[in-house]
Amino acid sequence: MQLKKEKGQLIVLSGPSGVGKSTVIAELLSQRKNVYFSVSYTTRSPRVGEQDGVNYNFVTRAEFERMIAANELLEYAEYVDNYYGTSLKAIQQRLDEGTDVLLDIEVQGAAKVRQRCPGALFIFIIPPSFEELSRRLHRRNTDSEDVIAGRLEKAKVEFREIPNYDYLVINDKVSGAVAEIEAILTAAECRVDSRRSILRQFA
Ligand code: 5GP
Repeated sequence: MQLKKEKGQLIVLSGPSGVGKSTVIAELLSQRKNVYFSVSYTTRSPRVGEQDGVNYNFVTRAEFERMIAANELLEYAEYVDNYYGTSLKAIQQRLDEGTDVLLDIEVQGAAKVRQRCPGALFIFIIPPSFEELSRRLHRRNTDSEDVIAGRLEKAKVEFREIPNYDYLVINDKVSGAVAEIEAILTAAECRVDSRRSILRQFA
């Protein structure tokens, strides 16, 4: 049963670059209603096929630093020489109207959200093996060998943060990863705390 929620669920999804998060997220959003994907701000250059305002809001370093100074970001981090951050205003409005909000962010940003938003749900997504992550980054064919090496090193550091997350999803097949995330979100929706509004009539 789909109930109108009083407040949306904030969902944080982290996982190393190249694990296939974007594909999993695209599939999840096509299946699940009432989820808004937070389009991050970044100073990195668009990859082939990426669109401004869809995959990211691509901004200059100066503009990003202005946003930091103006307190416009819920969280931000520097990742492989670029800034990435989440606009507070864009997500607050959705949560207040009862829409779930999905953030695709790395571990430093997730740690900040953990401090600021105690009710958020934290999911980490991993590949079936480290070798497979390396294969996927090479197959993507968009980054230089140096950048790939940097991303693999970063992944090792990120894996150490997994114990701070609530759920671990394995992206072997996209459909399997999506099914696991669907199950997590459905379980969260069934929590007594999430269903306070319907409970009132039984009081
Ligand atoms: P990519 O350059 O591969 O698109 O993303 C690099 C990393 O930045 C990924 O781990 C992604 O989850 C993370 N990322 C994307 N947007 C944000 C954001 O708004 N905040 C933070 N902290 N990380 C982000």
